[in-house]
Formats: sequence, C-alpha cells, structure tokens
Amino acid sequence: MNQPIDLRSDTVTRPTPAMRKAMAKAEVGDDVMRTDPTVIALEERTAALFGKQAALFVPSGTMANLLAILAQTSAGDEILTHSESHIFYYEGGGYASIAGCSIKFVDDSDSPKSGIMSANALRNALRPSDIHFPIPKLFTIENTHNRGGGVVWPMDSLKETCAFAKESGLRVHTDGARVWNAACAVGVDLASLAEDTDTISACLSKGLGCPVGSLLIGDQETIDIARHKRKMLGGGMRQAGILAAAGLYAIGHHLDRLTEDHDRATKMANDLAELPIFNFDPTSVETNLVYAKLSAQAIEAVGDAFVWQGKLEAGGVLCYAESVGTIRFVTHLDLDDEMIEEAIKRIRAI
Ligand SMILES: *Cc1c(COP(=O)(O)O)cnc(C)c1O
Repeated sequence: MNQPIDLRSDTVTRPTPAMRKAMAKAEVGDDVMRTDPTVIALEERTAALFGKQAALFVPSGTMANLLAILAQTSAGDEILTHSESHIFYYEGGGYASIAGCSIKFVDDSDSPKSGIMSANALRNALRPSDIHFPIPKLFTIENTHNRGGGVVWPMDSLKETCAFAKESGLRVHTDGARVWNAACAVGVDLASLAEDTDTISACLSKGLGCPVGSLLIGDQETIDIARHKRKMLGGGMRQAGILAAAGLYAIGHHLDRLTEDHDRATKMANDLAELPIFNFDPTSVETNLVYAKLSAQAIEAVGDAFVWQGKLEAGGVLCYAESVGTIRFVTHLDLDDEMIEEAIKRIRAI
C-alpha cells in the first residue's frame, strides 16, 4: 500500500534537515548548573516574545502544566477549569496525585464556543470563603482549546474572564500548547495573548516540529519556584541545548507557516463535511484541528468512531477517534496540499 497519511496529531512531526543542522551545531553546557547558553537563549527569547520576565524549558507540555500548578498552589487547594481541559482530561490526574489539588469545573454554557468560559460562569463556580470548602487558588484556560475543536479564545472574553479571575484573588494559567496557532488565527502577537495570564505554557513539539520540549513562561518568582520543582520531578536536563536549538530554530522559521496548516484544515473540513459519513459544521474549524462528527447513518451502518478509525487506517489514513461519535484529523508541518488531497481521496473511496 502507499505510505499512510498521518493526521493523528501535530506531535508526529519530525525535525526538518535544517532543524537537525541547528541542533548538531548547538553550543551546550550543563543546564542544571545554568551554564547551557542555548537553553538560556531559548528561555530569554521566549520570555521576551510573551512579554514576561522569565521562562523555563521543560520536557513536555504535561510537565509545564504540572509545574504551573505546583508553583501556584498548595496541597488541598482548588483549581477551577473546564471539564474538557487537557489538565483534567489527559495528564494522568497529576493535579491530584502530585500537586494534591482538587478541580471544580467551570462551564461554557453561555458561550457559543466549546471551552470558552465567561466571567459569569467563573463567578457561578466560585464558592464563598467557608471552612467547608477547599481554597480556590488557580484558574486555568486552554488556548487553543484542544477538545473544544482547536477553537481560539476571543480577545474580549479572554480579557474579561481573566480580569475577573484576578479580581477574585485567583492566579491564572493558560495551557498554551497550541498558543502559536491561536496567535496566528487571531492575528495578534503572543504577548497580547499572555498579557492577562500569570503563567502560560507553550509546546515546541507540536505544530512547530521540534522533537521534544515545552516552555513555562511567567514572572521571575513563579518561574524560580517552577525550576526547583522541575528538578524535584526529575526534569532537570543537562546538555539540553541540543533540544533548545531546535526550539530556537522553530521559533525563527516555523511560526509564520502555521497559516498553511490552518488553511489545509479548513479545506479538509469543507471536503469531509460533504461526505455522507460525516455530519458537522466545517466553519467550526478555526485552526489546525478538525473534529469531524460521524453521521448517525455512518455509525449505524458500520460502527462508532473507533471502528471507523480502524477502517480509515486500513485505507491509508491515520487519525484518532476522539469519542464514540467524533474523529479528529490534525494538519501539520509534515503534510502538504497534495497529501491532504490524497487523504480526502482515500477517505472518499472508503
Ligand atoms: C499536547 C497538549 C499538552 C501537553 O502534551 P505533552 O504531550 O505532555 O507535551 C498540553 N495541553 C494541551 C492542550 C495539549 O494539546
């Protein structure tokens, strides 16, 4: 069979030859001793890009989020977030098992987009100070919101909800694994997206194509605490400049091209929505994630999304069933227009 076309995730991207070259010639030291110049350069560059005092290079987005929690809460505190957030859904319960926090959900029922929480929804979730209740400490949002379909926070909602969180005495963390895509889709700079949040994480190994790495960005004091906790978790890395060089290369070369991924996702959504096996609104696609809901007919005739995932895989299109009724397709650096065309052709044939 022809090579499968991999639309499972933007994490499948491999470093480009030019990125590998930048990695090979990276100057390195021992970053636990703070003597790796390339890691320091990446952290300084990123802090400046996001308009914050400091940044910390970490192995994964999961660790960046966990460190944001550990640095801004104590055991027994409460985190307020959305029920479909990555921190709750996909991080092995680290907020509870490692940080000792509980989570209270904030709903999105008064927002047209999934995962976007209004100030009012946050107000409704916050309980008054009372000895019965855990102490609310941290509010977290996700931009773009993965399980919400890769949607972007509208700037006015972002400002309003974060301002309310701060007035309420909460710290605010943004899970910005795909914040680069959010900035590209809204057409604002990264500093504007980070302005109303105390800390923000950003992933280098998704749309930007790095082999490894995320960043946690924020004020100096919080990042200093996170650096200590990173060592505690075993995330202190020695000659990490080789990895940081990939990050610096990606920030320099792979940010502007994200519009291509978004355009391809839009094209894919439009084409898929015309097939009888799908039933979704293609205009809901805002970035590089296409959440394609199966039609009742497709499920009845063949099976749920997990069955369809297997069928598509057998036909040369790799994707993920996100739930029983929805399949996720992700566009990324390693795909071009022809591969998207070919993927649609194969899906149509199936
Ligand atoms: C991928 C992702 C993360 C972190 O993932 P890692 O695999 O640990 O790097 C965090 N948040 C969101 C929204 C993500 O999509």
